[in-house]
Amino acid sequence: MEKYLRSEVPLSQLTTFEVGGPARWVAAPQTLEELTQTVNFARQQRLPLYPVGGGSNILASDRGFAGVVIQPQLQGLEVKFRDGYALVRAQAGVEWDDLVAYCVERNLAGIECLSAIPGKVGAAPVQNIGAYGQEVGQTVESVQVLNVESLELEEIPARKCAFAYRTSRFKTEWRGRYIITALTLCLIPQGPPTLRYQDLQLFFADQLQADPSWRPSLAEVRQAVIAVRRSKAMTYDPQNPNHRCAGSFFLNPVVPQEQVSELKERYPQMPVYPAARQGWQKLSAAWLVSQAGFPKGYASGRAALSSAHTLVLINPGQAQAQDILDLAQEIRAKVQDTFQVELVPEPNLLGFE
Ligand SMILES: Cc1cc2nc3c(=O)[nH]c(=O)nc-3n(C[C@H](O)[C@H](O)[C@H](O)COP(=O)(O)OP(=O)(O)OC[C@H]3O[C@@H](n4cnc5c(N)ncnc54)[C@H](O)[C@@H]3O)c2cc1C
Repeated sequence: MEKYLRSEVPLSQLTTFEVGGPARWVAAPQTLEELTQTVNFARQQRLPLYPVGGGSNILASDRGFAGVVIQPQLQGLEVKFRDGYALVRAQAGVEWDDLVAYCVERNLAGIECLSAIPGKVGAAPVQNIGAYGQEVGQTVESVQVLNVESLELEEIPARKCAFAYRTSRFKTEWRGRYIITALTLCLIPQGPPTLRYQDLQLFFADQLQADPSWRPSLAEVRQAVIAVRRSKAMTYDPQNPNHRCAGSFFLNPVVPQEQVSELKERYPQMPVYPAARQGWQKLSAAWLVSQAGFPKGYASGRAALSSAHTLVLINPGQAQAQDILDLAQEIRAKVQDTFQVELVPEPNLLGFE
């Protein structure tokens, strides 16, 4: 195991927030056999296990993690065609955006709007990543996992994963039960691009105005998404001073219609979006944060908001996890006080009791 096991590795090196104390062990298994050996190692040592991909949705504790961080490195992408659909199988260690590029190059529609989301394939189903009108759960056929109890590989069909807005069973009741080893997506060969999101429609406004039946190619949509994301510092770019972050820090709150109506009376300009749940609607967390008095670039102690996006908490360079939690708490309290709406953080906590 020596070749893929390291001890006392700072979690600040494994997460995009670049905060966090040492992990007792970090294993980067390349094969299923090494993955199983790592799980056995954690068992023998009686240590907790925690899977990590690119660390782009994790806030790690300043005290570190007295367990085994496991970073599956499994590689491989393949596509098979069946009944007019493309079944794309990606291993957990593949960069998510490499998978999107692979599918767009082959003209397979379904995940083009999820371009440039940081992280690995193995994490994508956990919070059902989503952006610009698509969510990965809409195209998942099945998820292959290693059951850490039985050490058996299982293939879980999408319908059992309970994919919903930024969540799934992997993030809730199944947390700790499985390590995701591969993902199979069902995509549409030569399918139409998704142009649901206003930012994308605006990007193509000139062409659409000239000819309302015109549609961009999947590659054009991918390039548009990347351009829009760059303008909001929502790609992972170490040259950008906002890069030490986990993307959006808060979920968009989903609240009952009565509460929306009350809020709309007080704040007629408040944006409201449809929610999957009947009788409920989605609010913009970014709008709530900025209206509660937190502009882009707002700093508090050693933590701050991104200068490009009010929903992104950043470590400008010297912050610790506690500084980020303190700023998050300050924002949550003010939003609660102003709007009586609870903001729920999106990143996963690692190493906190
Ligand atoms: C700049 C920026 C922009 C972002 N934009 C978006 C966006 O538009 N939409 C969106 O949905 N997210 C976004 N995110 C969040 C993040 O990119 C996604 O959540 C991504 O899927 C995390 O991948 P990761 O490999 O970095 O996972 P990690 O952060 O390493 O892990 C995330 C969670 O998944 C679990 N996990 C990881 N790998 C496995 C595995 N193999 N098996 C089981 N569990 C596992 C971890 O335990 C953890 O709980 C953004 C983040 C950043 C930094």
